Amino acid sequence: MEKSIFTKIMDKEIPARFEYEDEHVIVIHDIAPKAPIHLLIIPRKPIPTLMDVQEEDLPLIGHIHRVAQKLAEKLNVKGFRLINNCGKEGGQEVFHIHYHFLAGFQE
Ligand code: AMP
Repeated sequence: MEKSIFTKIMDKEIPARFEYEDEHVIVIHDIAPKAPIHLLIIPRKPIPTLMDVQEEDLPLIGHIHRVAQKLAEKLNVKGFRLINNCGKEGGQEVFHIHYHFLAGFQE
């Protein structure tokens, strides 16, 4: 399978602005932000889409939510949107599962 752009970023073949990383995920700043804070939470495991998530991946999906909490605390934001675009018809462009963390909207 060809490496996704996100795997290339994980392997440091392509630069990106990292906000957080651990053994399961990386968090980078989106190159084309749609909000004052626009991060991408990306599992190291290259699952193509949400429809490919298996039972064994559920701890990883839970972990992504814990990472979103950590980001909110770290960045001191009171609210955020966590979005997954699934499939071409869902607006997905990069077929390596990821969640958009959007914050910094005006109150
Ligand atoms: P999606 O449409 O859900 O697949 O979102 C893919 C996201 O990846 C878009 O918001 C892009 O702006 C973002 N993106 C693509 N290439 C890069 C990159 N090299 N570094 C950071 N973000 C990227």
